[in-house]
Amino acid sequence: MSVSIYNTLTRQKEALVPETDTFRMYCCGPTVYGPAHIGNFRTFLVQDALRRTLECSGVKVAHVRNITDVDDKTIRESRKLGIPLAEFTKKWEDKFHLDCDRLNMLRPTVEPRATEHIAEQLDMVSKLVENGHAYAAKDGSVYFKISSFENYGKLSGIDREHMATQALNSAGEANVADEYERENVSDFALWKGRKPEDGENFWKSPWGEGRPGWHIECSAMSKKYLGDTFDLHGGGIDLCFPHHENEIAQSESATGKSPCVRYWFHSAHLMVEGQKMSKSLGNLYTLDDLLKRGYTCAQIRYALLSGHYRQQLNFTFKGLDDAKSALAKLSKGIGGALERAGMDFGDFQKEAVSPLGRFGGTIFEPAWNALCDDLNIPRALGEIFAALPKLDGNRRDISALGSLMYALGIDLGGEPQAYETEADVPEEVSKLAQMRWEAKKNRDFASADELRKRVSELGWTILDGKDGFKIKKS
Ligand SMILES: [Zn+2]
Repeated sequence: MSVSIYNTLTRQKEALVPETDTFRMYCCGPTVYGPAHIGNFRTFLVQDALRRTLECSGVKVAHVRNITDVDDKTIRESRKLGIPLAEFTKKWEDKFHLDCDRLNMLRPTVEPRATEHIAEQLDMVSKLVENGHAYAAKDGSVYFKISSFENYGKLSGIDREHMATQALNSAGEANVADEYERENVSDFALWKGRKPEDGENFWKSPWGEGRPGWHIECSAMSKKYLGDTFDLHGGGIDLCFPHHENEIAQSESATGKSPCVRYWFHSAHLMVEGQKMSKSLGNLYTLDDLLKRGYTCAQIRYALLSGHYRQQLNFTFKGLDDAKSALAKLSKGIGGALERAGMDFGDFQKEAVSPLGRFGGTIFEPAWNALCDDLNIPRALGEIFAALPKLDGNRRDISALGSLMYALGIDLGGEPQAYETEADVPEEVSKLAQMRWEAKKNRDFASADELRKRVSELGWTILDGKDGFKIKKS
């Protein structure tokens, strides 16, 4: 069965059919100037689940996700700290990778950095100037001429009247200073002439020293790694306009080929406890914030994936607690079935690592069908739990469930199960023990020792096993 998603470009649900033998997908990656928050991770997790589901359906996937390591924010923050831009962004890139690995996300096939593709970006800008889609301004900046691209707005459906005001409100690109240089207020920068606040962060170009605008990196790098046209482009819905609209304008004007991307895949915003995420509300949670509260990476992944990607997900602590019991239920169900089949957890993980799913005729076929139908994860989870009581020692069912766990990226081996059975362990003790387990897994042994001491002071002992731990009265 083929996987379908809602295509923003055509405004309908479509089966994802690769143009070549490999499904080529590009996703806008992080800007590395601080820790990513759970809103960012939700988008990356949805993309990870889509890729895994495609792999499960037998499709080979090339997944490119860029690293934005030069922009206003990265330059400003690195200069504030007085360290070179590359050193500053490397630190946050490493942190991003650590968090992605903890959330059990597959690494992209290629992860290009913007600063390592300046030549490709300059090539594209030159091409656009040559063919009349861009023009240089007096300050050494180059702008894309929106009026030169007839199809501008085809993705987001935005009309030209509203464009000017929205362009001004959009993040990052518009500022008062460069309005004077632009022929039209909605034209956007492909190249930004060097300014004093850029410090040493500039490159040479035919128009003088400067740096790339943000939008051009995605067009240049997707073209380099996936070709002039490719299958799918993903991102948060906030990127649909202007970023993705600008990418289409740049790419199609540079290559003359349309559509540059056949499927556009956007995921909705994340709310936290019913509120918008914002700095002032203090709810821009990072992964570390939630781990410190005693939740596990597997629980956080589960909670962030539990809503449909096209609907706003309301992330709550209750949702994390629900994720915890759902994962425990899954472990228990699988544990029982493995026992009846005479298999151990290692055998099961071997099945789960083999992503190619065979679902036909198994009790998990409805769950797989739900995943294929617009990546409906909440319905798939519902179907999994509906089928779970019927799971006996049937190996085909067990294997199908293993593949579903691969598609969803649920690693039950990473989930400590033992303490779930100890009903009399006080909440505080179990939380501390959970935090210690996470610290140990992350090789933060100093914190792990400290937490073990605190548990012991409360009169309890932690016993470690291979896949989890037990808590006993001292
Ligand atoms: Zn992008």
